[in-house]
Amino acid sequence: MASRNVLLIFKSNIMYKPVIYRLARDFDLIFNILEAKILPRREGRILLELRGDDETIEKGIKFLQDHQVVVELLADKVWREDDLCVHCGACTGLCPTEALSLSRPELKVLFDVQKCVACGMCGLVCPFGAMKDVTLFDPFAEGRAEEK
Ligand code: SF4
Ligand code: SF4
Repeated sequence: MASRNVLLIFKSNIMYKPVIYRLARDFDLIFNILEAKILPRREGRILLELRGDDETIEKGIKFLQDHQVVVELLADKVWREDDLCVHCGACTGLCPTEALSLSRPELKVLFDVQKCVACGMCGLVCPFGAMKDVTLFDPFAEGRAEEK
């Protein structure tokens, strides 16, 4: 069974449309909501893990897009700039999903994007800015942007 983490963006005009349940009903896909954030009258963001066979996942994604939902693969949005990472390990203790983990005995920090929920915690602590675009669901990101 294949699995893909996808970021769904609902613009305000479709924010409350009930489309996600149809992934299960019409496409027999298993979905798991990993994270969600609603900005009233602006947009809603949902990070969804989709499970099924590849073809059905593609059909489900097409269905969402046909209903005006913006669908992005999380793996295309979030990444680590490996040249900037010095494997200090500061991020591993904060990562809630163990997407960042320390390998032993090499003492290298590994990043598994499939486990990442884009909470932004690693972005807050990394002294070198190695973690990129991890603030998709960071509740403090907007406040920081307004302070600048
Ligand atoms: S954004 Fe960083 S801390 Fe949050 S889940 Fe992803 S890797 Fe872990
Ligand atoms: S905090 Fe930054 S430099 Fe340190 S291990 Fe994590 S990503 Fe690498």
